[in-house]
Amino acid sequence: MMQGINLKIAQPVSKCQDPLCPYHGHLKIRGKIRVGKVISYKMKKAAVVEIEYFYYVHKYMRYERRRSKIHARVPPCVEIKEGSTVAIAETRPLGKNIAHVVLGEVKAGA
Ligand SMILES: [Zn+2]
Repeated sequence: MMQGINLKIAQPVSKCQDPLCPYHGHLKIRGKIRVGKVISYKMKKAAVVEIEYFYYVHKYMRYERRRSKIHARVPPCVEIKEGSTVAIAETRPLGKNIAHVVLGEVKAGA
């Protein structure tokens, strides 16, 4: 189901019973896949992922670095830590502020 994603994402080792899991449940992913850093994993089933991107400023003809924080659901089978680089995928809205799911850690060299 993860065909066409050109990233080395750590696959889950264990199986989970979570219906809202992209690997073992029926959660569909659609839209954007983004790579970011976990800056907080204090919620039970969700983490805050910081995404860095470049925004072109026409007046100076240069790019500026911008950051945004995205709340993403973490299925029980996906193991992440604060500080790890992860891939997140867009889903349908799962809560008031959550419309992404963590796919797993991105391995170096991807
Ligand atoms: Zn799972």
